[in-house]
Amino acid sequence: MTDEKQPVSRREFLGMGLRGAGVLVAGGALGVLAHAHATTVWQIDPEKCTQCAGLPEARCATACVKTPSAVKCVHAHAICGYCKLCTGFFLPQPNDLNTGAENQQCPTGAIKRTYIEDPYYEYVIDRNLCIGCAKCVKGCTDFGNGSLFLQIIHDRDHCTECNACAIAVACPAQAIVRVPGTAPYLIKTSFK
Ligand code: SF4
Ligand code: SF4
Ligand code: SF4
Repeated sequence: MTDEKQPVSRREFLGMGLRGAGVLVAGGALGVLAHAHATTVWQIDPEKCTQCAGLPEARCATACVKTPSAVKCVHAHAICGYCKLCTGFFLPQPNDLNTGAENQQCPTGAIKRTYIEDPYYEYVIDRNLCIGCAKCVKGCTDFGNGSLFLQIIHDRDHCTECNACAIAVACPAQAIVRVPGTAPYLIKTSFK
């Protein structure tokens, strides 16, 4: 059940195989200071998020007061299948399984695909490029393990802790919830 998901601290978030650019690490210490006053903060419940299915654009990308959005994709590598045909990375029916932009879900090229060993590939999000559009999340959720998901990033450079989160107002799935400021992330640890 969604309500049973336990928020995790920044330290736990960084230690659970969730990877991306070094934004969290670089902004971490200052971010903790910046949000130390916040008793609770806004966060996305990844079990409730529907990736704005049916809408032309995910509201996480368009409704945030920050540009680009404070919402970023994160990747739970512990539950990723390291698939050669990653449905988060590739569009349905790609021309070829290569990194050509015409084959990718991501409009900004934020997902780095690296060959590990046949038939496994690793997918790492460059958070500096991610705009929170949820396209990769939808592909992974619909056809993969569901290891890609969205989170509001809490540090100096991202969420400004609005009193009323504009995404919470716009979200069609009521997926934006309040979590403790000391444990601001809701991570995925099991397959969808
Ligand atoms: S597809 Fe969208 S949510 Fe996924 S990494 Fe690219 S910009 Fe971020
Ligand atoms: S609280 Fe404000 S800055 Fe943070 S995610 Fe919501 S709209 Fe964006
Ligand atoms: S607005 Fe809500 S349903 Fe849409 S991508 Fe964000 S959390 Fe998911």
